Amino acid sequence: MTRPPPDFPMFVSVQEARDMLAALLPDPGQEDVPLSQARGRTLAAPLAARVSHPSATESALDGIAAREGDTLGAGPDTPVRLRIVGESRAGVPFTGTVGPGQCVLIYTGAPLPPGTDAITPVERLTQDGRLHVLLTRPASPGDVRREGEDFRAGEQVLEAGAVLTPPRVALAAALGHARVPVRRRLRVALLSTGDEVIEPGEALSPGQVYDSNRYGLAAMLEECGCDVLPLGHAPDRPEALREVIAGAGGADVLLTSGGVSMGRYDFMRDLLIDHGRVAFWKVRMRPGGPALLGGWNGLPVFGLPGNPVSSLVVFHVIVRPALTGHPLQTLRLRAGTAFRTLPDKTAFWRATLRDGQVHDYPRQSSGVLRSLSDTGALVIVPEGVRVEAGDEVEVVLL
Ligand code: AMP
Ligand code: MG
Repeated sequence: MTRPPPDFPMFVSVQEARDMLAALLPDPGQEDVPLSQARGRTLAAPLAARVSHPSATESALDGIAAREGDTLGAGPDTPVRLRIVGESRAGVPFTGTVGPGQCVLIYTGAPLPPGTDAITPVERLTQDGRLHVLLTRPASPGDVRREGEDFRAGEQVLEAGAVLTPPRVALAAALGHARVPVRRRLRVALLSTGDEVIEPGEALSPGQVYDSNRYGLAAMLEECGCDVLPLGHAPDRPEALREVIAGAGGADVLLTSGGVSMGRYDFMRDLLIDHGRVAFWKVRMRPGGPALLGGWNGLPVFGLPGNPVSSLVVFHVIVRPALTGHPLQTLRLRAGTAFRTLPDKTAFWRATLRDGQVHDYPRQSSGVLRSLSDTGALVIVPEGVRVEAGDEVEVVLL
């Protein structure tokens, strides 16, 4: 059967593919979650400090708090003797005032009592009877933590769009927020296709392959904070595919693997042409060239190639940035070997990291799944760009 020439873009760039997918995704909206469920979520609004931290100027050490001026003459031969008039503990401050020649015992995190402005650590003190200490060097105003030196009440500390890493979860708690506004998770329906694709654990006949994409992609989706709606697996039959896709209602986007290439049993593209629409087909990249974007009854559909390396790489460099709104993270490293150039495609070559350099991995076929597991890095070689050993390259860490 011959079809009319395509009326959708073909061979788009990686950036165009990302932007076109992002443009089709619905705004996820936002929700409030308790801090205990906030890790990995993206802030939907800025967070301001409800209090200052520290909430009062406090000691950074265990020792005594004194008036610096009283101790300036302290030296090995001229010890200064101070009278202990009380104690300031974290949570239980000293309530009196410290006068000239006096000090209080103080502990880390305890507020500096009025009148004091300097600390001598316990290691540098000599006890003189029960009620006095001797200092052989001046007390230090540097051993205090100033009120608000971390953040001040009212200050905006975290920006909208920030990913709540564990340190930021801690920070949100310190700011005084029990709940935080986060972007709602996108619901991503996930479907594997292919007559030869079977469940791991079942007996494998020659020509069959275990469904690695379903598990690899679900893991990647979880890692980027999406809810996965598992649609399982569909055979290479248009009616079967139609039925499953029609059941993806309620999802924000449908991700499929397989069936987007040029083969006789690759039905995804024609299904979208006939029953939905195609936004693009094929991306100028390797691995992952045949990726497909379209829509079906208002549901965005992204078709990943079936080859295991292709599907995971396309997910990482195109789908993930679009789903999360966070650009692809790269760093610049020196190439320890040359990397192959493609005249009309951006290449994402698997590379090993050694001695701070990236080295070409010998097996770059998109069927060699262990190339991703063995390496953990992708060297980006833009279209037509030559990379020799010693050149700086852009690298994606997986
Ligand atoms: P396709 O894109 O459907 O032409 O598939 C390309 C290659 O990827 C074929 O060798 C398939 O057997 C393989 N493949 C397709 N889907 C999967 C999957 N879910 N898990 C592992 N391999 C797959
Ligand atoms: Mg297939």
